[in-house]
Amino acid sequence: MSDTRTFNVKCLFCHQPLEREKGKDIEHGELVKCSDCGELNDLDSAVEVTKEEAVTAVKNEFRRMVADSLKGLKGFKLK
Ligand SMILES: [Zn+2]
Repeated sequence: MSDTRTFNVKCLFCHQPLEREKGKDIEHGELVKCSDCGELNDLDSAVEVTKEEAVTAVKNEFRRMVADSLKGLKGFKLK
């Protein structure tokens, strides 16, 4: 087992997932160093961006599902 866990929080600079030590809570104003590009990320900002991305991803997924189901209806043929 690795002693780091990946949060669904991405680096603000290179968009790689940020890793933090296991068992540590996110502290307000904490800076997390990206293991990929070495930039320090303001965790509050990174969490905000990730939340917004998650909302957008859910919206896009919903739109895709609706589009797919409409496509399915159009392609439906009676035998
Ligand atoms: Zn990075």
